[in-house]
Amino acid sequence: MDNTYKANKYRQPLFEIVGMTSTELTFAVAFAYMESEQTGNCCWVLEKLKELSVKKDLCPQVILIDRDLALMKAIEIVFPRSINLLCRFHINKNVGAKCKQHVVNDLQKTIDTLWMEVVWASDEVEYGQRLHQLEQACVDYSGFMNYVKDTWLTPHRHRFVGAWINRVLHLGNTTTNRVEYTHWKLKQMLGNSIGDMVKCWEVMNNNLRLQLGNIRASFQKSFYEVEHAYISPFYGYLRGSVSRVALRCIAEELLRVDYVGTNKKICGCTLRTSYGLPCACELGRYALGGIC
Ligand SMILES: [Zn+2]
Repeated sequence: MDNTYKANKYRQPLFEIVGMTSTELTFAVAFAYMESEQTGNCCWVLEKLKELSVKKDLCPQVILIDRDLALMKAIEIVFPRSINLLCRFHINKNVGAKCKQHVVNDLQKTIDTLWMEVVWASDEVEYGQRLHQLEQACVDYSGFMNYVKDTWLTPHRHRFVGAWINRVLHLGNTTTNRVEYTHWKLKQMLGNSIGDMVKCWEVMNNNLRLQLGNIRASFQKSFYEVEHAYISPFYGYLRGSVSRVALRCIAEELLRVDYVGTNKKICGCTLRTSYGLPCACELGRYALGGIC
């Protein structure tokens, strides 16, 4: 979910909600023109979204946004059971800018790398170690370190650090780039005409038709075209039933089986927890069971 601006002549922010298909394409869930971006307005939009849901107690498992405190509050109120992740790209950009302000030139690159390692830490032990390394490198930069901790790590680490988000079904979405691309596309279609509601609606509608066409084509491809890499009997039950993107993920994970075996600890099981697909240790167990 994300807001974009300058998409209509009334200067109202346009709030867009998108999702991802199993073929890794973006689909529009909903959009709304907002009078303002306060929590009350965000709550109204999310309530409307909730009303559209066919099953009443169904809520999005994961909602990914930029750090927007009003929207975060609204998500907590309307979808208390959803997991609210924050865009890594924007966090890294902010941290990078702060680093440039506080840290001498020579050290900026090192600290940037150490920060990335904190963000990518795959479990809590590694997170502790990486954070310690970052703290040591920043002993002379307490302003920067305080910013990193107070603004990001202490309140939000479970929303963007690998150790926590690897356990969340985010299907590989850890940045809001997908919805930003949708904003960009819409603006391309709007051209220079920042129009009224009717013009915007027309453009949106055309955009949705295009999207639907592309999604249908991608499903057809997954149903009927078999890539050479997946003709072995191992994929027999999957061909035509799961998307090519999913097959590719499984094929990549298979390469880890020799190394992982059936050891859950070595595996990490990220493909299972964040993509809902069988991870290396599961595939290893199938192999032992003779299914390969
Ligand atoms: Zn596993």
